[in-house]
Amino acid sequence: MSEYHQIFNTINLGLVVLDRELTVTCWNRWMELHSDIPAERIIGRKICDVFPALCENSFIRIVKSVFAFGNYASYSQKLHKYLFPMKNPHGSSALFPQMQQNCTFGPLRNDNKEISAIYITVQDVTDFVIYEHKLIQMAKVDGLTGVFNRRYLDTRLQEELERSRRHGNPLSIMMLDIDHFKEINDTHGHICGDYTLRKISELLLELVRTSDILGRYGGEEFCCILPETSFEQALVLAERCRTQVAASQFSCTDHQSRVTVSIGVTDLHRDDTLDSIIKRADDALYQAKRTGRNRVCSSPVPVENAT
Ligand code: GH3
Ligand code: MG
Ligand code: MG
Repeated sequence: MSEYHQIFNTINLGLVVLDRELTVTCWNRWMELHSDIPAERIIGRKICDVFPALCENSFIRIVKSVFAFGNYASYSQKLHKYLFPMKNPHGSSALFPQMQQNCTFGPLRNDNKEISAIYITVQDVTDFVIYEHKLIQMAKVDGLTGVFNRRYLDTRLQEELERSRRHGNPLSIMMLDIDHFKEINDTHGHICGDYTLRKISELLLELVRTSDILGRYGGEEFCCILPETSFEQALVLAERCRTQVAASQFSCTDHQSRVTVSIGVTDLHRDDTLDSIIKRADDALYQAKRTGRNRVCSSPVPVENAT
């Protein structure tokens, strides 16, 4: 028994044993370290008295089922984040202040083969969850500007097309391209060009709704998907984006520069595919470029003749 006890207290896993009254009978060293509760302060106490919130969720249902049927059960981080509230041991993380846990439950039988207790294992999976979160972010976010990338935009546009059709809601999109951007690079250098891309992204993010999906479609071209937005509302927003960009100063190093954008707007038509709606927005953008830049056009009618 004492050999087993050595494993119990050195294993890199939380181990807890509860009797039928849900009184803690074992609380290993790992649990002490991460919960800041020494074994002598918790052994003999009801788990629900120490962690009241624990007993308000599915925990009790799982425990009852293990006692009743002798089954094994898991408590997944994907669904519940964690079982026992413990500080993230890998440093402070705004996103994951608590240790993320995968837990398992199983029965413990006495010499008469009756289930007299249950054990719980607690595994710290915070590192994996943070890596997974980073990978998911990297797969959908543009590294330079922090807005979504082209792949994510295409996926979301397809989903929004289907959702809009299903619910009969309007859907619009806005395609935006910085005017004469090459000149910024050529005159002030690529670092200033990059800075301008970031600043314009920030400005656009402030102007659109949180439910709108803004992404970088190509080099200096942005696309914004506007769910539940009519064509008229999209035009108003596009015009606001155009004027706000034109009115902003972008000061890179000691230099203040102004930029303008051209915008193409369209809304969902009955037989649209992903390609056809993008093409219409692109055509409108091209028209805005051709007719003088710093303007909003809709396909096929020009809407705004700006300065
Ligand atoms: P137009 O008004 O017709 O859109 O002219 P433009 O100069 O904006 O368009 P053009 O297609 O001629 O040039 C786009 C430039 O954008 C060229 C390319 O070097 C630059 N660019 C693309 N991606 C990036 C980037 O990530 N950073 C920087 N600094 N420049 C970029
Ligand atoms: Mg351009
Ligand atoms: Mg372009």
